Amino acid sequence: MSSLPAGAVSRVGGHWGPVHRRTLDTTVPTMAGLLFDPAVGHAYENFRVAAGDVDGAHMGPPFMDGDFYKWLEAATVAFGVTADAELGHLIEKAVDVITRAQRADGYLHTPTNISQRQSGTMNELDDRVSFETYNLGHLMTAGCVHHRVTGSRTLLDAGIRAADYLRRLVEDRTDLIARSAICPSHYMGVVELYRTTGDPGYLRLATDLLAIRERFVGGDDNQDRLPLREQRTVAGHAVRANYLYAGVADVVAETGDRDLLELLEHLWSDAVNTKIHLTGGCGALYDGASPDGAPEQSEITRVHQAYGRPYQLPNQTAHNESCAAIGMVLWSWRMLLVTGDGKYADLIERILHNSLLGSIGADAKSYFYTNPLRQARDLPYPLRRAGDTAINPVPDPPASDARLRQEWLSCFCCPPNIARTLAEMPYLAYATGDSTIWVHQFLDSDAELRLAEGRFTISQRTDYPVSGSIRITVGVSQPTPATLRIRMPGWAEEPKLTINGSTVDVIEAGYGVIERTWSDGDEVRLVIPMRVRKLTAHHLAEELTNQVALVRGPVVYCLESTDLPAGATIERVLVSRDAVPVEMALPEDWAELPALQLSGLLAPAQAPGALYSELATADPQPVELRLIPYAFWANRGPSEMSVWLRLAW
Ligand SMILES: [Zn+2]
Repeated sequence: MSSLPAGAVSRVGGHWGPVHRRTLDTTVPTMAGLLFDPAVGHAYENFRVAAGDVDGAHMGPPFMDGDFYKWLEAATVAFGVTADAELGHLIEKAVDVITRAQRADGYLHTPTNISQRQSGTMNELDDRVSFETYNLGHLMTAGCVHHRVTGSRTLLDAGIRAADYLRRLVEDRTDLIARSAICPSHYMGVVELYRTTGDPGYLRLATDLLAIRERFVGGDDNQDRLPLREQRTVAGHAVRANYLYAGVADVVAETGDRDLLELLEHLWSDAVNTKIHLTGGCGALYDGASPDGAPEQSEITRVHQAYGRPYQLPNQTAHNESCAAIGMVLWSWRMLLVTGDGKYADLIERILHNSLLGSIGADAKSYFYTNPLRQARDLPYPLRRAGDTAINPVPDPPASDARLRQEWLSCFCCPPNIARTLAEMPYLAYATGDSTIWVHQFLDSDAELRLAEGRFTISQRTDYPVSGSIRITVGVSQPTPATLRIRMPGWAEEPKLTINGSTVDVIEAGYGVIERTWSDGDEVRLVIPMRVRKLTAHHLAEELTNQVALVRGPVVYCLESTDLPAGATIERVLVSRDAVPVEMALPEDWAELPALQLSGLLAPAQAPGALYSELATADPQPVELRLIPYAFWANRGPSEMSVWLRLAW
């Protein structure tokens, strides 16, 4: 199936309406303020220096060009909706300086371009972890999106020049480019160029780039310890893994390579069934070694923000970079388009509603880099959390618990990735095949779809996931045959699907299937019971055993200490297996989603400070608990928080 073209999805409302609107109206412009300000982001300034507009030096991490392109992609999508003149002006400024900074042969990586302009000391691809292919890949993707939205070829041509540069490297300096595929966004970028231009040379470039990976043997930190086709488990850096496999899935989508598809299905299942958090967070460990526990120690390499062992899912020290969850959306979306299997859309939904939405504040301009499932007081060691606390320690207590989202992160890869994903999120809701309309996500919106047989409009009305009621009205100018496939979530219990009141009972791979000649005004209704479920975890997930998490529909809940009585701490809370959660309105103005109120127990406080102490045996006391959607935590000041709660059987 294919994604919908730019402009095909409109009038986003319901639960996602305010989120989408805030992304366009607040996230994108405030981020521009940071990235265009030399005193803060220096991203735009780096291009100005590289273009020779001003004197100066490169500042910021080597991947900041790519992060600027991700903002540009988000801004372009936002401009396509709002037509905001000021934003349009910023986009033009960005495109102009990017094209002028780019070398005639297509190379563009501002640290090197600036060095070459000023002293000639730095050669391209000298440092394999300088993220050049990551940057160039995002340039290609931004160029394609910019062309689709605006019709302009300027940025697209810059992307084409970048791809042509890679082509020459593949032919002339194969080993150099083979070792430079760090955090590879360029496989996705090159395939997107193929789709945009129709030039099969770019698809060949993608397959060539994948084939030459084997010429470099590195470590699991960049998934190049083993040749791609020999990989059986996901390992190492979760962003890099998910970007790689998303790019491979793009190649599979265009080549139909069944061996690679089987490989990807296996790897995806390995990740989803054993290594990702309930919130959809990917990359559970801050740092590790891989292959972990290998008999030959010489084979072990250092990895960071790693997938870790199966079932190794710590809560408090969960890394879960926001970009890793987004990478999983990219990977799963491509798997979905190739296979039509609803399990991929189920995971996308889980990430969107939890990990992704939790990575941005209710103010739409503060961000998490890491996304733990638990936060506790008095952590005696630094973690690379929002604001890189290891590098820039937060102030002394009591503010030391204030590991909240931040507006500026010294490593700014996540915020523009969050921005572009939320800006483009409506396009995850639909897709088309030759004669098939796919509804993947429940999103109050209108969509225009063109099939081989004719044009359709889809009006989806829903407050999902506030309720599980979805109403879709189909619009056609004349009776037209087509199949509509609508997702029946894998977690849903007895969802009811009807067409004009008649029950639909054909379900294939997680989709209700309605094949008919459609008349204007035909109405599809899906009703999904939204019972609160209490989930437990696999017995090998040792930090999760004998605990319970509450989930309502796709939304994972958490307990924040803000909602506990004074003096109560999060680890003392116990939830009975038969506690009945009651839905109540959230007083905060975040969303229409309910809070969950239930009776719990508060265990006696244990002796503080000591590593081990004798069990305090006083009776637990009743306590009323209020759980909020995980995505909304850390919006009310510093707090302790936990998704998983101790189970009092
Ligand atoms: Zn990131």
